[in-house]
Amino acid sequence: MQPLTIVWFRNDLRCLDNIALCSAIDYAAAHNTAVIGLFIATPDTWAQHHMAAIKQDFIRRRVRALTTELQALNIPLLAVEGSSYQQLAHWFDGVSQRFGVTVFAQTEYELREQQRDARVQQVLEANAGQLILFDSQCLMPPGSVRTLQGDIYKVFTPFKRSWLAKLHQQGVQCFGRPKAVAQQVQALDEFAALKPGDGSSADWPVTESEILAMLRHFCQEKVASYQQQRDFPAIDGTSRLSPYLAIGAVSAAQCVARLQLEAKDSWAQEKTGAEVWLSELIWREFYKHILVAYPELIKHQPFQKETAAIAWKNNPQLFNAWCSGHTGYPIVDAAMRQLNQTGWMHNRLRMITASFLVKDLHIDWRWGERYFMSKLIDGDFAANNGGWQWAASTGTDAAPYFRIFNPVNQSEKFDPQGDFIRLYVPELCKVSGKAIHWPHKLGGVKGYPQPVVDHAEARKQTLALFAEVKKNA
Ligand SMILES: Cc1cc2nc3c(=O)[nH]c(=O)nc-3n(C[C@H](O)[C@H](O)[C@H](O)COP(=O)(O)OP(=O)(O)OC[C@H]3O[C@@H](n4cnc5c(N)ncnc54)[C@H](O)[C@@H]3O)c2cc1C
Repeated sequence: MQPLTIVWFRNDLRCLDNIALCSAIDYAAAHNTAVIGLFIATPDTWAQHHMAAIKQDFIRRRVRALTTELQALNIPLLAVEGSSYQQLAHWFDGVSQRFGVTVFAQTEYELREQQRDARVQQVLEANAGQLILFDSQCLMPPGSVRTLQGDIYKVFTPFKRSWLAKLHQQGVQCFGRPKAVAQQVQALDEFAALKPGDGSSADWPVTESEILAMLRHFCQEKVASYQQQRDFPAIDGTSRLSPYLAIGAVSAAQCVARLQLEAKDSWAQEKTGAEVWLSELIWREFYKHILVAYPELIKHQPFQKETAAIAWKNNPQLFNAWCSGHTGYPIVDAAMRQLNQTGWMHNRLRMITASFLVKDLHIDWRWGERYFMSKLIDGDFAANNGGWQWAASTGTDAAPYFRIFNPVNQSEKFDPQGDFIRLYVPELCKVSGKAIHWPHKLGGVKGYPQPVVDHAEARKQTLALFAEVKKNA
């Protein structure tokens, strides 16, 4: 049997700017082996990770598109319907005994993924093969942005400054599209084909050309007004690229390169739309750096250790009201219904709903973290964990204990006309003007729940909860 070079696609589901793919092609040419792509679906492990059904469908659709895109490079994609990470070492053992394989892939930072790779590596090496990993999820790989003393940054702003200095120094390099490979690969049809998903992600295009068009459109048409518009959920003012970044259908480097091309120098000028958008991409990298430096976060431990002792009340009825969007707080309910109905939620609303769960309902942030993961098409461990810990004041970034969002003030500020609320809370459609932010003032609206808690009272209790752990720390 001819030896095989395998590009194992995980969360780098793209042909462009894919260092693992390019390196595999070069390696195959140098060693005279065939090169194939590989994707293994692991729905049991995805379920253990609470991966949303919509994200699973999105991945399956993207893999099908990737199959076609790889065909243009004359690289077949072997799409295997597996079950869990546990079986993979056995699977690779079988394949490497038959063919002798070298596997190229992108590093993943989470715990089970690290363990999976260690086991696969062992098995491959036992069969004279190897697993070659590339740390390409971030433009600046975790650990590469450090203080002058060589420490990891624990606060975003200095991290960003240092990250930008590196960007100025080294620029952005993206790997282009590889040339089609001259090869004839024997059929690999003994492996099961990938099952189709449930179609729930159909609103999100998945071909490379559509994804690149979205990125280009955002950078050409929208980024200039990003700073003014990004906080208003009724406006389509953000890129909506998070699902693509989460599965690596587009890379951070591609985003930054496109931004620099379209926005010219404005990305380097403070408070322009381009600069603020770049900041968001840096937040994404910050949370990945933090995750790698503090692996206890992967086990859902709080970054601020003393907050592990907070006595959350964890009332299941209140949790259900929050999940289903029936708290009596219109902006919170509209946001949760957007999440439940579409699998995506605007960033401002993620902050409002997270703050509400933790600081108004006194429910452990990990319950919210898990619920978001189970619904989001863009579910990403580092960003989700970072966002939840930020909102819960248990995370990085000198979280002041008094970071407590007032949901009604937030609603008045960021959905001033109530357009977003009306979209998702039909019970309030007939409430006119500003009353929509707090319809209970009018004595309530038929069919719409009374507020499940009093915000002012809940706020006091939150301060007391945090004061208690601070005192004992
Ligand atoms: C509680 C909470 C949970 C979150 N969970 C996730 C998650 O599971 N997956 C996820 O991708 N983002 C998460 N975020 C971050 C942010 O809300 C989304 O990335 C953003 O809403 C995606 O929309 P967009 O692509 O239009 O973003 P844009 O505003 O266009 O930003 C561009 C990209 O930057 C990144 N980004 C933006 N804001 C953040 C941020 N605060 N932290 C990290 N990366 C960011 C995303 O990759 C995003 O696509 C969470 C935020 C909070 C507060």
